[in-house]
Amino acid sequence: MADDDRTTIQKLRALIDHPRTGEAERAVARRMLDRARQKTSPPAPRVAGVPHLDPRDPWAQMHALFDHLTAAAEAQRVQQERIRKERRATPEARRVRSEASRRGWAARKAREEAEAEARAAEDAREDEYYRLVGGGPWCDGLDVHPVMGEVECRRPPHAGGDCDDMRGHTWPHYDD
Ligand SMILES: [Zn+2]
Repeated sequence: MADDDRTTIQKLRALIDHPRTGEAERAVARRMLDRARQKTSPPAPRVAGVPHLDPRDPWAQMHALFDHLTAAAEAQRVQQERIRKERRATPEARRVRSEASRRGWAARKAREEAEAEARAAEDAREDEYYRLVGGGPWCDGLDVHPVMGEVECRRPPHAGGDCDDMRGHTWPHYDD
């Protein structure tokens, strides 16, 4: 409220309250006071982004409130997205992403190398196996291994000593 308005209201009140003020004068002062108060009363609250509302219409107020909340939520989302993008664009964020990418690549390369080594070792074992067992003929004695299942003796036909699958598993040789 401006100081001028405040002073006017105080003067009118004093005039209305003063015992020597006449009735007609007092009535005029009251009307002027009413007008001054209307002029200085705070405007009905406005909702951002929506037309000015009749404060006596609660439904319009409520619709406006929901519109306002929706708009505020959307504005918040847009702002958060902008902040997120800005953060991602900083040199530090780029450096961290680049570093993570490099680490990921190094880990994948190490894994591929380990797999290649394992394959080479397996190939070497197979070569060694075929070198040992040759092309037969073999004993062909059978056993059941808990993991490998049914295995066959790959020693040459023999009457003594354990059967051997030449992959590290041996079992007693039984004559038929
Ligand atoms: Zn055998």
